[in-house]
Amino acid sequence: MAARRETLVTLAGLVLVGTLAGSTAPVAAAPRQTSKQPVATGYLGAVATVDPEATRAGVEVLRRGGNAVDAAVAAAAVLGVTEPYSAGIGGGGFFVYYDARTGRVHTIDGRETAPQRMREDSFIDPATGQPMKFEDAVSSGLSVGVPGTPLTWDRALRRWGTTSLAQALRPAIRIAERGFVVDETFRQQTAENEKRFREFTSTRELFLPGGEPPRVGSVFRNPDLAATYREIARHGVGVLYRGELGRDIVRTVQHPPVAPGVTRKVAPGLLETSDLARYTAPLREPTHVTYRGLDVYGMAPPSSGGSTVGEALNILERYDLSAMSRTQALHHYLEASRLAFADRNRWVGDPDFVKVPLQELLSQGFAAERACLIRPDRALQSPIAPGEPDGRYAGCPAAGTGAREPYEGRSTTHLTVADRWGNVVAYALTIEQTGGSGIVVPGRGFLLNNELTDFNFVPLQAGVPDPNLPGPGKRPRSSMSPTIVLRDGRPLLAVGSPGGATIITTVLQILVSRLDLGMSLPEAVAAPRASQRNGASTEAEPAFETGGLTALGHRFQQREEIGAATGIEFLTGHRMTAVAEPTRRGGGSAMVVAPKR
Ligand code: GLU
Repeated sequence: MAARRETLVTLAGLVLVGTLAGSTAPVAAAPRQTSKQPVATGYLGAVATVDPEATRAGVEVLRRGGNAVDAAVAAAAVLGVTEPYSAGIGGGGFFVYYDARTGRVHTIDGRETAPQRMREDSFIDPATGQPMKFEDAVSSGLSVGVPGTPLTWDRALRRWGTTSLAQALRPAIRIAERGFVVDETFRQQTAENEKRFREFTSTRELFLPGGEPPRVGSVFRNPDLAATYREIARHGVGVLYRGELGRDIVRTVQHPPVAPGVTRKVAPGLLETSDLARYTAPLREPTHVTYRGLDVYGMAPPSSGGSTVGEALNILERYDLSAMSRTQALHHYLEASRLAFADRNRWVGDPDFVKVPLQELLSQGFAAERACLIRPDRALQSPIAPGEPDGRYAGCPAAGTGAREPYEGRSTTHLTVADRWGNVVAYALTIEQTGGSGIVVPGRGFLLNNELTDFNFVPLQAGVPDPNLPGPGKRPRSSMSPTIVLRDGRPLLAVGSPGGATIITTVLQILVSRLDLGMSLPEAVAAPRASQRNGASTEAEPAFETGGLTALGHRFQQREEIGAATGIEFLTGHRMTAVAEPTRRGGGSAMVVAPKR
């Protein structure tokens, strides 16, 4: 199918047309203004995403009587249009669902999967025997895993939804057709990817209209994506896993549409139609820990989100953070995170391929053994060695030296939805890096993921088994941490974030800030962040106060922004507060169905 060009129209032009026509109503086909607010409190349902169009689509589904699952899929499909560099049918994710009727938490593992032809050394350059350059691996066919997002939507709706996928895709189709207003974040993300987008003809045509990143205030349309969504609506997700759309994906991965004049060698991928046909999005038991009397549910492997947040909480529960000074509480937060990351890197991978000692990682005995390494007066020096989650916990083994930190991208999106019946969804979806592999499937309007670069190309530490090496049909380890917290069996809050490995620390810091440090959820989401992942230094946002912590031996490295969370808190009397970022990534959007009772 030939790629079609989206049309650009300036918003100013549209407004002018409306004014000349003597009407203050918006022009019929004009994109709506995209004002947004980061916090909303009310009744009958709530949605928080990074994008006002997606949030609005979700709230409209709820208003019309849809449930949280219907709204989450509708909002996610819109994010595929308005946040195409972070989300979409070319990627994967993890869907966590609290079912109010049964009081149980379920999860869907929609992680991208390596093709059968992938081998442990697939990212090693045979010419040199060395790992490929990371950037080359990212923007290549080789990094593309089987997309899991379409099947996730389909499974979620069939199991727990009340609408069809066709209905859930409707708002997204409309927005892809009428277009959305380009904001500073979209322009900036395009500009940051400009060089590699230029390397692929299909990507250049779609995302660099007229050869440039779209202007702020212009309207971005994606009729190809509208047509693709329509095809899925009409014929089901089989068009991707067993049909023409799938064949287009495989062709693109095997023969990336490299633009003339590109001199770097773009590695073709190993994906075949049989890989798409065998893809599954399994239901997995969530991880579960208790924290100060609350039940915390998260995503199990192949995500390391639930196990790492859970282990860190188990460690922290041994201390009364609320009685500590700010410095001591944050010191313990950083140390717990450091220890949990050492263990995550050593023990967590795809459970269908490696034995993940999940129960032990989340046990109180293991937490006690790890906690005993924390000193109130001195920060541990990373990288520290992983612990042995072997069920034999006595004494206090020395910290030892561990592995370097693996590299991970930073571009998921997370959405949180609740409905009037008390169902809750925390859903993280991604195409890995901002812009994924950089390869648009020609004529289809969406980017393919580069999720397979979440594998470690070589073992992190020589002589130590690495659970996250590539393999045929294997899922790369993720950090996505959609989390639902219950109190007495009822939802208290749900939260999640993008940000690669910083997702884990972002979610952990928000939980600690909300549950221990006396902040409200909006305050916890807004608070300056720091992320310690068993690295020699801790990444910290500029506003994060490092003073007292530096005196304890913590070293910091500044990072402009960490994460872009969304969440919902459930208040008394059926009220709920939806929370998005006030400023990070240009701010997110929170809405409720009914502000008043
Ligand atoms: N690939 C990352 C993961 O699964 C998510 C992408 C991101 O947020 O950077 O953990």
